[in-house]
Amino acid sequence: MADPKGFLKHGREVAGRRPVDERVKDWDEVYPGGIGRALLPIIQTQASRCMDCGIPFCHSGCPLGNLIPEWNDLVYRDDWDSAIERLHATNNFPEFTGRLCPAPCEPACVLGINQDPVTIKNVEVAIIDRAWDDRNVKPQPPEWLSGKTVAVIGSGPAGLAAAQQLTRAGHTVAVYERDDKPGGLLRYGIPEFKMEKSHVDRRIEQMRSEGTVFRTGIEAGVDIAARSLKDRYDAVVLAIGACEPRDLPVPGRELGGIHQAMEFLPQANRVALGEQVEGQIVAEGKDVVIIGGGDTGADCLGTSIRQGARSITQLEIMPRPGEERPEGQPWPTYPMLFRVSSAHEEGGDRVYSISTQQFLGDEDGQVRALQLVEVDAGFQPIEGTEREIPAQLVLLAMGFLGPQQPGLLEQFEVELDQRGNVVRDSAYATSVDGVFVAGDAGRGQSLIVWAIAEGRSAAAAVDRFLTGSTALPAPIPPTARPLMA
Ligand SMILES: Cc1cc2nc3c(=O)[nH]c(=O)nc-3n(C[C@H](O)[C@H](O)[C@H](O)COP(=O)(O)OP(=O)(O)OC[C@H]3O[C@@H](n4cnc5c(N)ncnc54)[C@H](O)[C@@H]3O)c2cc1C
Ligand code: SF4
Repeated sequence: MADPKGFLKHGREVAGRRPVDERVKDWDEVYPGGIGRALLPIIQTQASRCMDCGIPFCHSGCPLGNLIPEWNDLVYRDDWDSAIERLHATNNFPEFTGRLCPAPCEPACVLGINQDPVTIKNVEVAIIDRAWDDRNVKPQPPEWLSGKTVAVIGSGPAGLAAAQQLTRAGHTVAVYERDDKPGGLLRYGIPEFKMEKSHVDRRIEQMRSEGTVFRTGIEAGVDIAARSLKDRYDAVVLAIGACEPRDLPVPGRELGGIHQAMEFLPQANRVALGEQVEGQIVAEGKDVVIIGGGDTGADCLGTSIRQGARSITQLEIMPRPGEERPEGQPWPTYPMLFRVSSAHEEGGDRVYSISTQQFLGDEDGQVRALQLVEVDAGFQPIEGTEREIPAQLVLLAMGFLGPQQPGLLEQFEVELDQRGNVVRDSAYATSVDGVFVAGDAGRGQSLIVWAIAEGRSAAAAVDRFLTGSTALPAPIPPTARPLMA
């Protein structure tokens, strides 16, 4: 156990972000010198607040089953080598989750029943960043090769986790990615100010040294047919994400200046890293309206601020959540709360219980305004509350419907569920023999932590399929939803 009286002596303290005025002028992470280093002066004290309570509910809050009390104790005792070993035992990429996870473990922390919970996510990122700084993250190539081959389609967190586990188990793994670089939404969705891409690059290098092969710029189902994949590989893992965006088919949708978030963000990410994008969608000098109040919307907000938007309004049809746990969402569940992301600290207005009736255009066919109406608890328009707000750029961030069906999924003829996600059994196997699925493609739009957990679990299932047994850990069955959707 860390300090038995730690939680009595110390309050919760998190890493301080850079001043808003400074950080909106660049694309770097919002923490000074990287969050892991920023945390070092306080993190042992924070880890000492862990009570090592007999039944660590934080484990059930974390989809990866991270061994949280163990590494809290090791950090407190200054044993960073053992801490990273325990962290990597359950999580291939803690630098991703330590920066980007909504940390469902924290509302499940026992200390959180009547005090502020342990800063679990901060301890996680401090451990991995220090391990990289200490050159303590080394490639782990397999000691022998099985002679079996696996194609992983998609290089988001699910594909990367599956590929790393399978490579380490001795299989020959090729990751196919249609983008020019691997990483999935980690690279082209999530902005640099939330996670610098150097973190993704470093992991890809580690994976290459272990033997994973990356074939980028190849769209499976177009550049290589499903049949060829089945013929060339002993198993296939579909980790193609859920990238079909939800649209807003109201009058005026055809006007210019209305774009999906995932048209806007990848371009901005490329430009932030020095690439040129012809005809880039930019927020500079515009009134920007973002439709959708989630993570993707917040990423559009922070990006629009950095591009120099004149005004930014983020619209959400749901009512504003409260600041305290709602009665129906008791500890240790993950509550719906009013949360302030780093982008929200930087500017913009958030409007709740509001719906878009139509987009209004100018004589050139460009959007100039939105007609909005307030809605009641059943999302019905409230008469007399109609109003217009100006917009020359509208970004749709209303979530995703499921994986792309034309191409690969149609060629494989895998069974889909009613929502369009790939059906899988308790071993992540699809309806087609030898074809498995992991991450958002099977689960529906979700989180990085779930994608990693599913990638690890699917790898264990594939290993068993190929060899008859497996020593790979499998954190969760596909139906699991520990404490959070
Ligand atoms: C803007 C945005 C911000 C987000 N922020 C967060 C956050 O802060 N925290 C969090 O936990 N989650 C966040 N999420 C959700 C999270 O990114 C996803 O849940 C996660 O990336 C899913 O991982 P995945 O590996 O299943 O799929 P993806 O990351 O979507 O990767 C799928 C990959 O497959 C490739 N692909 C698809 N079809 C083919 C094909 N036929 N051939 C070859 N390659 C193909 C795609 O190009 C892509 O690279 C965010 C999502 C978005 C859109
Ligand atoms: S991965 Fe997410 S849920 Fe798990 S310990 Fe880290 S922050 Fe918590």
